Amino acid sequence: MTAQEDLDHARLLRTKVVRYHEAGHAVIGELLGVPLRWTAIIDQGPGQRVLGRTERMRGAFEAASLETRIKTKLAGGLAEKILLGSRSPGGALHDDESIAELLKELEPDEKGREAVRSRLEADVRVLLEEPKNRALVEAAAEHLGLWSELTGVGLREIMKTKESGLASSGN
Ligand SMILES: [Zn+2]
Repeated sequence: MTAQEDLDHARLLRTKVVRYHEAGHAVIGELLGVPLRWTAIIDQGPGQRVLGRTERMRGAFEAASLETRIKTKLAGGLAEKILLGSRSPGGALHDDESIAELLKELEPDEKGREAVRSRLEADVRVLLEEPKNRALVEAAAEHLGLWSELTGVGLREIMKTKESGLASSGN
């Protein structure tokens, strides 16, 4: 491979990781009652970082419990790990700060904080490993691959389609 092909390949992979990351935030948030407004993948062009951004319905995140907020934040990095086997936590870096802040609020005792984080991570892991939810994250990531954005309406449409699809295949 030439250097350019190498770069293009790394770039495609990187974009895929970001798509799964944002899809994880979006789907897990939706499942936990923090409805999505939109999520977008912003490809800034060759040599630039690929960014992902997810926004909730106004006030929904703030209204959610601390545990729910932390779980939706954890879901991005965990979706990368669980669905793609990604080892580089690149996409999750921007979440770490807010997760640390929220954890501090939830568990004032620093000694207990790591255990709380582990428990919440395990909860999100269970959600992401459930085949139905996994399929949802994959569908959302695929949509992001095609359109670079996914609205809350679009996500709920995907969820409805998957629901009915599963119901009919179960007959
Ligand atoms: Zn994130």
